Amino acid sequence: MNFDFENFKTQGVKINYYFICKRKLWLYSKGITMEHLSERVEKGKLLHEKAYPRQKNREVMIDDILKIDIIDGDCIREIKLSSKMQSADRMQVLYYLYYLKQLGISKTGLINYVKERKVEVVNLEEKDERDIEEALIGIKKVTEMEKPPLVEKLPYCKKCAYYEFCYASEVV
Ligand code: SF4
Repeated sequence: MNFDFENFKTQGVKINYYFICKRKLWLYSKGITMEHLSERVEKGKLLHEKAYPRQKNREVMIDDILKIDIIDGDCIREIKLSSKMQSADRMQVLYYLYYLKQLGISKTGLINYVKERKVEVVNLEEKDERDIEEALIGIKKVTEMEKPPLVEKLPYCKKCAYYEFCYASEVV
């Protein structure tokens, strides 16, 4: 199957949210952001500003859509506070690798989990490419929905920037 990537390409954060919560993805895609109220998001921003100060290629923008934390020789690095959302983080980095591959660039992905001081290595395999394409199709479907997907009680809702928004009637 020839996948029409141009029609489906998106930001890395949307891949991450797709695997965390479809409702979160929908809200974010409509510009409804609560992230400025989230302590966790603030911590993450600070981390991105301070991590690897000696690296020159930080926060590299590609095609005005992809923001890669660090490009370091043959590797791209994504910096995360903790590994609580490891599989979503992995899909995000696989997406970066997939995107770069469409541009004829081959890299290895690294995820630096700062709290645990560990690094996960991510390589793009053929099966991952199909998974990314399926996710891109799924993201388009979710973001084109007229209404957001219903609240799903997830173990990490309380830490989510949208918590009060989603649980407004329960919080009062
Ligand atoms: S609070 Fe829960 S349901 Fe609402 S967007 Fe966040 S993760 Fe999704």
